[in-house]
Amino acid sequence: MNHLFLRKFSVLILLTLLYTSFVLSCSQPQDAVVNVYSGRHYQADEQVFQNFTQKTGIKVNLIKANTDQLMQRLQLEGANSPADVFITSDAGRMVQAKQKNLLQPFQSQFISENIPAYLQDNQNYWVAFTQRARVLAYNPSVTDSNTLSTYEALATDAFNNKILVRSSQNHYNQTLFASILATHQSDYALKWAQGIVQNMARPPQGNDRDQIKAMAAGIGEVAIVNTYYMGLLLHSDNPEERRIAQQTKLFFPNQQTRGTHVNISAASIAAHAPNKEHANLLIEYLLSVESQRIFAEQNFEYPVHPKVEWPMLLQEWGTFKTDTTSVQKIANAIEEAVILLDKAEWQ
Ligand code: FE
Repeated sequence: MNHLFLRKFSVLILLTLLYTSFVLSCSQPQDAVVNVYSGRHYQADEQVFQNFTQKTGIKVNLIKANTDQLMQRLQLEGANSPADVFITSDAGRMVQAKQKNLLQPFQSQFISENIPAYLQDNQNYWVAFTQRARVLAYNPSVTDSNTLSTYEALATDAFNNKILVRSSQNHYNQTLFASILATHQSDYALKWAQGIVQNMARPPQGNDRDQIKAMAAGIGEVAIVNTYYMGLLLHSDNPEERRIAQQTKLFFPNQQTRGTHVNISAASIAAHAPNKEHANLLIEYLLSVESQRIFAEQNFEYPVHPKVEWPMLLQEWGTFKTDTTSVQKIANAIEEAVILLDKAEWQ
């Protein structure tokens, strides 16, 4: 796509977004609604929203888009924004939304009493509602798990032509790289990214699931993916996807060092939320044991509510050491991460 087309396309998207927000803001005042801007695109979420409506009578108006587009939209709409709840599938973007004054703090006794403090913003601007580890997928009949160790090692010659990973436009990769940048010096991090580019089995393409499929097809050996995509493949309607997943194993990197990088999905209340009370109710519902079970059992994400038992599959993957580098520190590194990824020519 050329730039002119992209620009025209973005204007078109923007007009569509503004029109939908006009329609949303015209809904009858007596309607009990909550307007959700979400960067998540999973079936489990729709199930949870339906359950919420059934329980409370509050209708969920869901607008799904790329998180950066949603943040742009919140900025453009300003005080007229119909957005009540803002959801991201990435910690870095949520912290940026707070820094851009797109959110407001909220109080919830349920959340402060039940959700571990490290999964909440220390000023109550957002709360995590799922966790996902970014791990290595491999085929044990091709790759000896003893050759796998750390994210850092993936940039060495031993992995030449073996790495499968999606584009650096993807927030999961940006946040993973920001965690490396938050741990090491900038020049080390840049060399790491260049090493990964050097070791790629093919130019970045597709999503996390496509990396696992390419690995199964013998295109590369090690796919960098979020844990839940393995769960989604294992439970796919497509028998070929199930077969691929059954021959794939997950490796949790950096267990002897700082731990595996874990990202979060987080929820917040938009700065100008017209239905703040409904927003509060919905966020508490995302964290309820009932919803946490759905995220864990249907989307194979790690629950944040400590009373929710891990489903069998997550238990099979095992417990693991988590990188505890603060979300704030990682978020602060994202801007530089994007520049360095570009410099490393990670497409
Ligand atoms: Fe995802």
